[in-house]
Amino acid sequence: MKVVTTIKEMQALVAREKASGKTVGFVPTMGFLHEGHLRLLRQAREENDLVVLSIFVNPIQFGPNEDFSTYPRDFERDQSLAEGENVDYLFYPSVEEIYPSSTSVKLTVHQRTGVLCGKSRPGHFDGVATVLVKLFNITMPTRAYFGKKDAQQVAVVEGLIADFNIPIQLVPVDIVREKDGLAKSSRNVNLLPNERKQAPVLFKSLQTAKEQIERGERDPKVIRKTICRMIEAETDAVIDYVEIYIYPELTPLDQLAGTIIIALAVKFANVRLIDNIILTI
Ligand code: AMP
Repeated sequence: MKVVTTIKEMQALVAREKASGKTVGFVPTMGFLHEGHLRLLRQAREENDLVVLSIFVNPIQFGPNEDFSTYPRDFERDQSLAEGENVDYLFYPSVEEIYPSSTSVKLTVHQRTGVLCGKSRPGHFDGVATVLVKLFNITMPTRAYFGKKDAQQVAVVEGLIADFNIPIQLVPVDIVREKDGLAKSSRNVNLLPNERKQAPVLFKSLQTAKEQIERGERDPKVIRKTICRMIEAETDAVIDYVEIYIYPELTPLDQLAGTIIIALAVKFANVRLIDNIILTI
C-alpha cells in the first residue's frame, strides 16, 4: 500500500492505472477506522481492480460548535488496518493541500437537506458535497462506496452524481453494528461509560418501531412517539430529531407506505450519535 499526500501524485497514479484498463473503487472516510469502514473497503476490494481509501477530516463540513478539534484521529492504526484490507492507495492530504486558498465556486445542496442532519447542521452537506467533488476529481473512481449509516449523505451524493453527470457508480453499503446493536462510529469512543451502556437503546427503539409497523401500525406519529419515549426513558441523551420520511427523497408522509427511513440523532455529553433503519412497506 502506498500513502499519497499530494493531489498531483494521486491523480497521476490513478490516471496511469486507469489507462491500463483498471477499475477503481473509492472509499472516502474521516479515519479512525472501524469495522464499518472495513466493510466498505472489503466490498470495494471484491468489485474493483484497485482500491483507494481517503482519510481526511474535512473542516468545512463541521459547524463552529461541532467536534472538529476533538474528532478522533490515529493515522498509524488506520494505516495498518488499511494494509490489512489490501488497500492499494491511501490518500492522506493535509487541510492546506485540499483547501490552499480562497475559492471562487461554492456548492450549495438545496434538496434533501432541509430535514434531519441537514436541518440540525446547517452547511454540513455543502461541505460534504464540496469535498466529494474534489475527491472524485482527484481519485477518479469507477465506483464510490458509502455507508447507509449516513443515509442522508447517500441521498445527497446520489443527487450530486446525477445533477453533475459524474461518471461514478454510487454503492451504498449496509450499517455495521456492535454486538449490542449500537451502530459502529468513530465517535463512539467519546461516549462516557454510562452513556455507552445506554446507547444500544437507539437501535432497540428502531427495532421496536419496526415490530410495531410489522404488526400493522401505519401512523408515523405513533411510531415517532414510541422511539422518543424509549430514548427519553432509558438514556441521558437529548433528542435532536426522530423523523420518518420517504427514502431517498426525504419528503414527509402521513401514512407509512413504500420505502421509508426512520432516522434519529441524539446528543450525549460529548458526542452526537445518529442511526436509522430503511424499510419497504
Ligand atoms: P466517516 O469516516 O464517519 O466519514 O465514514 C466514512 C464512510 O464510512 C461513510 O460512507 C460512512 O457512512 C461509512 N460508515 C461509517 N460508519 C459505518 C457503519 N457503522 N456501517 C457502515 N458504514 C459506515
